[in-house]
Order: sequence, then structure tokens, then C-alpha cells
Amino acid sequence: MRCKVIAVVVAALVAETVVVSRRRGSLLNFNTVVRCRSGHLFTTLWVPGASVTSLRLGLWRLQRCPVGNHWSMVSPVRVSELTEEERQAAAQVHDARLP
Ligand SMILES: [Zn+2]
Repeated sequence: MRCKVIAVVVAALVAETVVVSRRRGSLLNFNTVVRCRSGHLFTTLWVPGASVTSLRLGLWRLQRCPVGNHWSMVSPVRVSELTEEERQAAAQVHDARLP
């Protein structure tokens, strides 16, 4: 029973890593463009399988949106689906600037 639970958790983490890295196009790029429920776009640190700055719920996370200054569910978006303006707007707002 315990082994089954661990297997399910590992499978979920692997699946998330694959899905997120495909959406992002790269495993090494942790800067992921996300969209909150209000439609705000910003860049965040998205480490598959780890809850660094937020409560993780699969591909949705509860996180503070720096654009609207509110808490919201956010999800990664494909950069290729964004317009140039949206891309620039998302690049200008990062919730955790790293040196
Ligand atoms: Zn927002």
C-alpha cells in the first residue's frame, strides 16, 4: 500500500516535469510565464515538483500575483501562444527576482 502511494507520487512528479518542460520548451529554464485567473501575465520561478513560493496543486498553483497584487490560481502558459506585447509584459514582471 505504501509502495503504491509512493509510486503514484513519483509518477505524478514525472508527469508534471514532462508536461511543464514541454510547455516551457526547456527543462533548464525555470523562468516560466504564468497567467492568473484574472488574466494577468507574469514570470515566475517554476520548479517541477517543488513548492518554493507557492502552494502547488498540479499545474495550478495558489500564488501571489504581482500584477494585480492579489492571491490567485496561476498556470503556465505557452510563450508561443502569446502576442509580442503579452510576452514583453510578462517578462517585465517577475515575482522573485534572482541575482
Ligand atoms: Zn492577477
